[in-house]
Amino acid sequence: MYTIIPVGPVSGSDAFLLTTSTHAALFDTGFAFAAKAMLSSVASHLGGRPLQYILLTHSHYDHVSGSVAVKRRWPEAQVVASAYAAKILAKESARDVIRTMNEHAAREHGVDDYEDLLAELTVDRTVVEGDVVDMGDLQLRVLELPGHTRCSIGFYDEQAKLLLGCETLGVISGPELVMPCCLVDYDSTRQAIARVRSLAVDSLLVPHHGLLEGEECQRFLAAADFWLAETRQRLQAAHGQGKSEEEMLQLLKQQFYTDLTRRCQPEPAFDLNASYIIAQMLKKDA
Ligand SMILES: [Zn+2]
Repeated sequence: MYTIIPVGPVSGSDAFLLTTSTHAALFDTGFAFAAKAMLSSVASHLGGRPLQYILLTHSHYDHVSGSVAVKRRWPEAQVVASAYAAKILAKESARDVIRTMNEHAAREHGVDDYEDLLAELTVDRTVVEGDVVDMGDLQLRVLELPGHTRCSIGFYDEQAKLLLGCETLGVISGPELVMPCCLVDYDSTRQAIARVRSLAVDSLLVPHHGLLEGEECQRFLAAADFWLAETRQRLQAAHGQGKSEEEMLQLLKQQFYTDLTRRCQPEPAFDLNASYIIAQMLKKDA
């Protein structure tokens, strides 16, 4: 048995609390400025129980930035991420980008006083494909799912048929509408989706959305696969007709910049992501 509770206090600040009868883990940790409110929420749900893990799906600022504050509150909690994510997060240049993105996010939410703890950002345990995170009732096996970033991972418990996904699978933008998020590679994104479609999944935690159950899981994955291939086809056709980069951005925006997407991606972030996605989808060998 397990429970999954969203604890991100503002939209876009991705964080879920996963508990079993013996263990608790925070799945992603949201923005730096939102950490304080997130901590209160986590603490009230834990009710004095310890927190064993902080699981990071990838190194993006909206997923990792609250982890230092969590670690200060629960020093025994182990920050778990892929080796590639650990390498990125150790770089001063990457932390500078994360810092700047957090400042933007804070400003957008009208917050200007929060503690910047990013210098302390660390990973305690790096994991690779097949490693297992022991949560008692749940045995979370690490799945390497590169495509959104090279460092993206998911977790799967075979017995519970529970998949904790990552953004490589896409972002839900509407009913049966999943926005592709292949920022670094189209083919590995396609493979990652195919791979998780082949698993038995009864519950699927989708970042920036929440828990899907039953038939919703395979419907989401089918839509993710469809929109990934369909979007590439549309962009390649547009490119073939001599459309400009700006026109292709508008094409993506009309399709995917819905109210749901807007809630977790401010327009500049959408535009930046879209430019990477377009580049991957127009690659000749993709
Ligand atoms: Zn991301």
